[in-house]
Amino acid sequence: MRILKIQTLRGPNYWSIRRHKLIVMRLDLENLAETQSSEIPGFYEGLVEALPSLEGHYCSPGCHGGFLMRVREGTMMGHIVEHVALELQELAGMQVGFGRTRETATPGVYQVVIEYLNEEAGRYAGRAAVRLCQSIVDRGRYPKAELEQDIQDLKDLWRDASLGPSTEAIVKEAEKRGIPWMQLSARFLIQLGYGVNQKRMQATMSDKTGILGVELACDKEATKRVLAATGVPVPKGTVINFLDDLEEAIEYVGGYPIVIKPLDGNHGRGITIDIRSWEEAEAAYEAARQVSRSIIVERYYVGRDHRVLVVDGKVVAVAERVPAHVVGNGRSTIAELIEETNLDPNRGDGHDKVLTKIELDRTSYQLLERQGYTLNSVPPKGTICYLKATANLSTGGTAVDRTDEIHPENLWIAQRVVKIIGLDIAGLDVVTTDISRPLRETDGVIVEVNAAPGFRMHVAPSQGIPRNVAGAVMDMLFPNEQSGRIPVLSVTGTNGKTTTTRLLAHIYKQTGKVVGYTTTDGTYIGEYLVEAGDNTGPQSAHLILQDPTVEVAVLETARGGILRSGLGFEAANVGVVLNVAADHLGIGDIDTIDQLANLKSVVAEAVYPDGYAVLNADDRRVAAMAEKTKANIAYFTMNPSSELVQKHVQKGGVAAVYENGYLSIVKGDWTHRIERAENIPLTMGGRAPFMIANALAASLAAFVQNVTIEQIRAGLKTFRASVSQTPGRMNLFNLGNYHALVDYAHNPASYEAVGAFVRNWTTGQRIGVIGGPGDRRDEDFVTLGKLSAEIFDYIIVKEDDDTRGRPRGSAAELIIKGITQVKPDARFESILDETQAINKGLDMAPANGLVVILPESVSRAIKLIKLRGLVKEEIQQQ
Ligand code: ATP
Ligand code: ATP
Ligand code: MG
Ligand code: MG
Repeated sequence: MRILKIQTLRGPNYWSIRRHKLIVMRLDLENLAETQSSEIPGFYEGLVEALPSLEGHYCSPGCHGGFLMRVREGTMMGHIVEHVALELQELAGMQVGFGRTRETATPGVYQVVIEYLNEEAGRYAGRAAVRLCQSIVDRGRYPKAELEQDIQDLKDLWRDASLGPSTEAIVKEAEKRGIPWMQLSARFLIQLGYGVNQKRMQATMSDKTGILGVELACDKEATKRVLAATGVPVPKGTVINFLDDLEEAIEYVGGYPIVIKPLDGNHGRGITIDIRSWEEAEAAYEAARQVSRSIIVERYYVGRDHRVLVVDGKVVAVAERVPAHVVGNGRSTIAELIEETNLDPNRGDGHDKVLTKIELDRTSYQLLERQGYTLNSVPPKGTICYLKATANLSTGGTAVDRTDEIHPENLWIAQRVVKIIGLDIAGLDVVTTDISRPLRETDGVIVEVNAAPGFRMHVAPSQGIPRNVAGAVMDMLFPNEQSGRIPVLSVTGTNGKTTTTRLLAHIYKQTGKVVGYTTTDGTYIGEYLVEAGDNTGPQSAHLILQDPTVEVAVLETARGGILRSGLGFEAANVGVVLNVAADHLGIGDIDTIDQLANLKSVVAEAVYPDGYAVLNADDRRVAAMAEKTKANIAYFTMNPSSELVQKHVQKGGVAAVYENGYLSIVKGDWTHRIERAENIPLTMGGRAPFMIANALAASLAAFVQNVTIEQIRAGLKTFRASVSQTPGRMNLFNLGNYHALVDYAHNPASYEAVGAFVRNWTTGQRIGVIGGPGDRRDEDFVTLGKLSAEIFDYIIVKEDDDTRGRPRGSAAELIIKGITQVKPDARFESILDETQAINKGLDMAPANGLVVILPESVSRAIKLIKLRGLVKEEIQQQ
């Protein structure tokens, strides 16, 4: 077996609209191409031995053990690789369930599709699955050690990629509310929502968190001073810079017990509490010095440690934090108890799990000594033995939810404190013997205010009710159930995508909104080009959706991008499908026009249920997409008596129809005429029917988004794509007594489209200078020839400079074959060189005639026309 290609999909795609995270592996089975699993001696046994848990895969029999049944009875290796790749991820703790395997048009070559949670792990699992299966085929087994290593590697990849518990909680809540999110490429920034409606977060700091509040909170001494001045109870203390001042400081706070901590520290680093002697104080001073130059000396307040979380001015959760400890069982030593406690799968390293493993340090031994223990002591059953003085989760502490117990007065104090410090999300460290009584009565204090407080102790407390604190953050960032989205309109089809995208963007601009749009020519925001180039894939979509100035996104969505990585957005408000015609067949395992239609259908299907799929009623493959989408349907048609559209409209549906020379919106009994085609420059005075179709599609897409008829009309009448903006798209030049048209039609459907315009040219003779890209199929050239014979009065057949591997002259021959087949008396000649061919066409141009040039190089063709010096005006699209 050999992996030919691995692709990573990250959005709605050809295989699934709902499952965005898929790996597509193109797998050549080589010598296994003809072999069923049942024909390989020992394969079934080897597979079950390596991965007994495959028993849990249902597969097509739909029952427990179903997949293994298939293996025993005989199935293809691609299918087995799929299940193994999924199972490997499962064994590493990643729950994935979706897989597909399909044979391609190349015999023995399969596409194996597997779901992933982490991209790298997904690709790894794909490769490992091939390795595993091959090994069982060759040797009857896969070594245990190798399997263990695979699973460990997968676990590592998964862990390294995880977002951290607080961020995880936030994005889960976003998903629950239908708020799209993405990871930005820098500084662990998370974007929630799109465009102008986006909000950003970094861990639990939001883009509303004020820098002044953060800086104040990070300075513990300043925080205390500010709070003390407002009457909030804070620890009595002072700051020193020299050991010489320690004695005096201890006196100032009222003698032992005291606390010593670094001025700017966190996660409990360098802190010693409950210091009762000078020796301890000196050692604590040194420890704090490791973290910070300035040292806080404070009175020690007896009590339990609480974290009060305030979001948007309200207390949303309270947790008591219990320092790392073990509970005696009367049998094990403290060392054994610690080991046992750390085995808890909820305990990880650092912040990556709900709890953190306990690691002993200097203070742990001191504490043990104070409690009269060593590591080898066996504490009596039920006794709690503390291992840390402070209760930070990151040093192995646990948390107990106390949200329902906090006294209203303490609630009031906490909310007031956070206002005073100036934070939207803050965690208060409160030391008191009883949070359900006012701090005043218990001599409790607010030790610290934390910006960017961790959520894990509230989301997953060791005891008590988990609190949806991320929900409070979402309520703050997206009040009134806002979705954070902006309108996203996605346009696909074989021909006319760029034109329609540009027109739609232009129409939308009439509403005064900032429109971001992407096309094959470049990415634009408002009137400006952001980036030139073929930008029709998901990355360009991201650029627009991440831009904080964009209010509406219009995205040309081409087949290449959908195939390579899926859509760059989870769903659109409007998905437009213009047409499906033969082009690019045989590329990327899309071999038939129906497969191409399935691919383009992704755009119609990945639409929010309250959005619209705008479909071409005159193209049966496009019209059929209505069956597959859950969105509302809106049709456009050039045929006012289209039965499909009439039925649709009678049922209250909406459509855009070309009727009696007008582009109109039809809805129920009403017809709203937008404008006469003649008055719309894009339609070239109504002579280019396909442009009318594009304009109908754009108008309809805008209409279903509540753009008014007046705004649509204004957009249609003012849209002029200049030659410099859209070279090669129906560029018409007036050369005095004749015209020249340059277009890069190169597939049968676009030949026909241009042909419809040419046929409408009735003032004089029509000359065609034609050809096609060499990498298309033989029959495609014959078709181009047949079409040309019907369109032109005289034909000059030329070839591209780059024949893309085809022998020179062969494409021309095939075209001529097509020409003579339909019109034996056709007038034509063959001039293979493009420049000569164009010049010949222009030389022989008849009065009032039209020379249509379908060149390889649009810029060269335009240059040759301009060399004629007669270009009085460029009347393109008027
Ligand atoms: P984190 O950022 O994780 O909250 P930190 O390093 O900022 O920790 P503090 O919050 O100042 O440190 O102190 C850590 C813990 O030590 C407090 O939550 C509290 O339990 C205890 N503590 C600190 N100062 C005092 C004090 N004066 N009296 C009693 N306990 C204290
Ligand atoms: P590409 O796939 O190259 O990005 P596109 O789909 O963006 O193409 P446009 O750039 O808008 O298409 O138009 C390219 C050419 O396709 C036009 O010049 C015209 O010849 C033809 N064309 C445009 N609209 C249609 C249509 N609705 N039906 C058939 N042909 C069309
Ligand atoms: Mg703290
Ligand atoms: Mg395009």
